[in-house]
Amino acid sequence: MSPQFEIPKTQKAAIVEGPDSPLKIVPDHPVRQPKDLAPGECLVRLECTGVCHTDLHARKGDWPLKAKLPLIGGHEGVGTVVAIGEHTQSPPVKLGDRVGIKWLAYSCLDCELCRKGLEQSCPNQQLSGFTTDGTFQQYVVSWTSHVTPIPDALDSYEAASILCAGVTVYRALKYSHTHIGDWVAIPGAGGGLGHLAVQYATAMGLRVLAVDTGAEKRELVKKLGAEAWVDFRESKDIVADIRAATDGQGPHAAIVTAANSSAYAQAVDYLRLGGNLMVVGLPAHASLSADIFFTVTKSISIYGSYVGNRQDAREALDIAARGKVKCYYETRNLDSLLETYESLEKGEIVGRIVLKIRE
Ligand SMILES: [Zn+2]
Ligand SMILES: [Zn+2]
Repeated sequence: MSPQFEIPKTQKAAIVEGPDSPLKIVPDHPVRQPKDLAPGECLVRLECTGVCHTDLHARKGDWPLKAKLPLIGGHEGVGTVVAIGEHTQSPPVKLGDRVGIKWLAYSCLDCELCRKGLEQSCPNQQLSGFTTDGTFQQYVVSWTSHVTPIPDALDSYEAASILCAGVTVYRALKYSHTHIGDWVAIPGAGGGLGHLAVQYATAMGLRVLAVDTGAEKRELVKKLGAEAWVDFRESKDIVADIRAATDGQGPHAAIVTAANSSAYAQAVDYLRLGGNLMVVGLPAHASLSADIFFTVTKSISIYGSYVGNRQDAREALDIAARGKVKCYYETRNLDSLLETYESLEKGEIVGRIVLKIRE
């Protein structure tokens, strides 16, 4: 017997109606009913959701890609599958399963990119909280093929941030062509993505050079496994200091999540010969300017790494479930989403924010 769930007709949701309209929290947004789900779709009753910088870009509409309107944002949700569309062919999840809703809500699984494991760049994709309504509501519709099973050992609030920030940095490290004992530079190591990157890198046997500022962040990243530290505010010559801290030759890879272009150009300067630059940040308007002469003569490789595919997500969650990675987060309520956007914009958030959806 599969469990039965009572599905309400309406719910609380955070909606943006137009390009310049304010974010509104409404108590009576309709819930898509089980009979109205298409084959392949499922309804997930959310327990919690993370808030990400991406949600802020979607809200402000400052990216080259435009979000749907009206929009319910959010793409780091964890909850329970409470309905599955009729005639869904052998769904990979069942009623009652605890699953994650991530940025990539759907991909066709049939185009060249999908077949090569680059489903996050599928031209037929749907993105949670961007092209399809996301997790800033109590009940979200998503696709059975792309919701992510959450390991039992992992707390839902912890899992929420792993689904986006964790997967993103994990994949960048996984494809950085580094090996056990190699040095990896992590600028912004004390931030939301950075502090997860430090732990994944350490779990992978890499030696972490953390770049950030202030005693509090230094203590945090050292505790999480960073071996070397450079304070970008105190440093007079950041490239020289980073090289000096990594055997005098520079790190083998850099995982750059920054929202400004200078961090990328700097990385080309401090990377070791043959080093790899993983480009992860998604600033609104910025170009990567690398010195061509040194990119060539130092044999530097530059890779764009975009969130992760279904396999990357499962691996990132599994590593966290085994206690190798811990997310630092603060819990708030859905009603405080607007204030949360404001503090994100001011850069006041330490770690991640997770909103409680279900009491
Ligand atoms: Zn995100
Ligand atoms: Zn595809």
